[in-house]
Amino acid sequence: MSGGPSPTIHQAYRYAIDPTPEQVAQLRSHVGGARFAYNALLSLVKENWDENRARKEVGEEVRKENYLGTAQLDLQKLWYEKRDELAPWWGANASSAYNYAHVHLARAFANWKKGTARFPTPRSRRTHHSCTLAGSAVRLVDSHHVRISRVGEVKTYESTRKLYRHLDRGTGRILSATLSGRGGRWWVSLTVEVERPLPPTRPPERVIGVDVGITALYTGASPSGEQVLAVANPHHLVVTEDRLARAQRVASRRQGPRRGVAPSKRWRRANTRVQRIHAHVADQRRNLIHETTTMLAKNYDLIVVEDLNVTGMLKNHALARHIGDAAWGEFVRQLDYKTKWYGSALVKADRFYPSSKTCSRCGAVKAKLGLNEREYHCEACGLVMDRDLNAATNLAGWPSKPTPAGTRSVAGRGGEVRPSRQNTDEPAHPAEASTEAPTPVGA
Ligand SMILES: [Zn+2]
Repeated sequence: MSGGPSPTIHQAYRYAIDPTPEQVAQLRSHVGGARFAYNALLSLVKENWDENRARKEVGEEVRKENYLGTAQLDLQKLWYEKRDELAPWWGANASSAYNYAHVHLARAFANWKKGTARFPTPRSRRTHHSCTLAGSAVRLVDSHHVRISRVGEVKTYESTRKLYRHLDRGTGRILSATLSGRGGRWWVSLTVEVERPLPPTRPPERVIGVDVGITALYTGASPSGEQVLAVANPHHLVVTEDRLARAQRVASRRQGPRRGVAPSKRWRRANTRVQRIHAHVADQRRNLIHETTTMLAKNYDLIVVEDLNVTGMLKNHALARHIGDAAWGEFVRQLDYKTKWYGSALVKADRFYPSSKTCSRCGAVKAKLGLNEREYHCEACGLVMDRDLNAATNLAGWPSKPTPAGTRSVAGRGGEVRPSRQNTDEPAHPAEASTEAPTPVGA
């Protein structure tokens, strides 16, 4: 890992600013100009589509190239063609204010096409008070002044020292700046790409095994079998999942797209609703994953998880409803980079390690463990334990287990684990005969 570039994160810095009356006029001009560009392009596209529809209705041939496109570059090109005619004053504002209007409108169209949003509507003066500029249009002059292109040097209320130092040292880069004004007050919000120096990896004193569960979403255990983490599917997530199921039932009763038949308007509406709830569920899950992974990376030195494929192979059906493979992949991906940020390490247990079937007390391995068995009963030593907790305990103990192939190394950052099943004396696992090799975590 050493020698590679430091990982970067996007961080937002928001400052209240104190513009002069002339500067306020400039800020307003930018916000108004961006709003104008957004609305003008939107109405050009709409007019064009309406016109094409009317032509089709009277039997005229309308070709694909007669339609205005809604990708960012299409909108930008359209703006360049029309701006002199529509907005002869356009030169008064920084050009990136218009560019971001194209970006935002293209995104609004894309969301509508995906079904996650309604058809774009004009931005109103009443509700829309901001515009975005390119990072190059903004620069910090010192710890109390920001220079905005066309607006000039504006005083900030708070100190910008922290960000200023990043920019000064070259460990930060402003990607974009959003100017917003409400009730006579103005702010500049900067999205900054910041390099994060990596802390040294801590010695593995606090170890946790995390199992993606059947009884709980995530179960965490210490090597001694103490339950230290239990993340259930939160109530609000379950509720939205129920709402989703209902919305899906409604959509399924309506006339959806079939070969040669256009979907009904009612289906479109129902489908839009389904898409929106999907997006909402995904949002909530994302937040939950973020909270959990941050907590783990901050509070533990070594985190042991199952290999994704084990999860996929053994648990797929029962898990599908609660957490998709994609969510588990995301969970591990976040742990991977967050452990680097916070100086902890991540280890993926060998994909053939039977963490669910092994007794965490005596090490006996069951031949079979049904998905409906919520508790682990050991016939050898009599242990009775919640199955997820048993699996998590096994994972927590995994890095210190001796392996036939020699010592398992937990190498620094990312906790790369050497493949431990290369001993030729051992009979190969059926799935091992495939070309897949255990994946080092840092890969
Ligand atoms: Zn046992």
